[in-house]
Amino acid sequence: MDASLTPTPSAGTPLLQLRGISKRFVQPVDLAGKIANLLGAHNAPAVVQAVSEVDLDIHAGEVIGVVGESGCGKSTLGRIVAGINPPSAGEVSYQGKKLADMTAAERRAYGLGVQMIFQNPMASLNPRMRVLDIIGEAPVVHGLVPASGMADYVAGLMRQVGLDPDYGQRYPHQFSGGQRQRIGIARALALKPQLIVCDEAVAALDVSIQAQVLNLFLELRRSFELTYLFISHNLGVVGHVSDRVLIMYLGRVVEVAPTEVIFSRPNHPYTQALLSELPTLDTQRRDYQPIKGEMPSPLRPPTGCAFHPRCPHAMPRCQIELPPLRTLATGHLSACHLNDAAPATPSLTS
Ligand code: SF4
Repeated sequence: MDASLTPTPSAGTPLLQLRGISKRFVQPVDLAGKIANLLGAHNAPAVVQAVSEVDLDIHAGEVIGVVGESGCGKSTLGRIVAGINPPSAGEVSYQGKKLADMTAAERRAYGLGVQMIFQNPMASLNPRMRVLDIIGEAPVVHGLVPASGMADYVAGLMRQVGLDPDYGQRYPHQFSGGQRQRIGIARALALKPQLIVCDEAVAALDVSIQAQVLNLFLELRRSFELTYLFISHNLGVVGHVSDRVLIMYLGRVVEVAPTEVIFSRPNHPYTQALLSELPTLDTQRRDYQPIKGEMPSPLRPPTGCAFHPRCPHAMPRCQIELPPLRTLATGHLSACHLNDAAPATPSLTS
């Protein structure tokens, strides 16, 4: 089992815990395939292993960045954390209790306590609803705020995210992209979450607006004592906000470490390749190999280390053996055969 676990930044029960989380999607045989099967073909359903055996502890107040190219499974992992998609295997625990053992009330608390902010704010906001209702409807429905107090509650949240409360009567299309993302943030905050999953939350914004929204996330973390799982394809963006970073490749965690370690002492060749693509004045990084080739199809993942077709250090055994995550230093784990001298990390603990 991969262990993405790292030492706990704080003692105590993790706010959210993943153990052995895997997710597979099965694509049924289409009509043409079924017809071909009638004629003697052997088309089988396509299986995509989106996430494989991920362990993770998320502690209250932490910001964990999840980075990888499109198709690496990071968004699927985020949706599992947010309770939107169930895992195919493994256990999710919230505040020390397994989801499978939760009462209806505990599940509701989990549903409210973990919110998600999506990449495209326009697509995630109902265009026919006023901003006042977009932000205020759910807290009223869930009894967090009386209907009579909704307008004041929403006005307070709009101020917190940098929006003029007078705009509450407007519709999403009347706002800029950055403002719409602020509406999405206010909508998530309205349910008084403890953990917010941000899935490419600034990717659709102009660079200058990205910086503003990232700073807003950091301000809100302090104001609301929030915990974030911050998902992005951009290591630079994640490095700006995260306490530690988890690197994913083709559904598996390949490296996890405190943010400063990822940037100063990256171990995995994939992490090094991601770093090499960041604009930097740091000449120490000039030896890194730029990432080459395309992410393999999850329908036909390579054997052994999935990164071997693109890895400048690949050895014959890399095509056969899956490298386990090994502990290189406190809180720093990497899955590469070049680390064979390091002890293999057992399943996670905190
Ligand atoms: Fe490269 Fe082999 Fe390490 Fe994979 S296990 S990252 S192919 S050296």
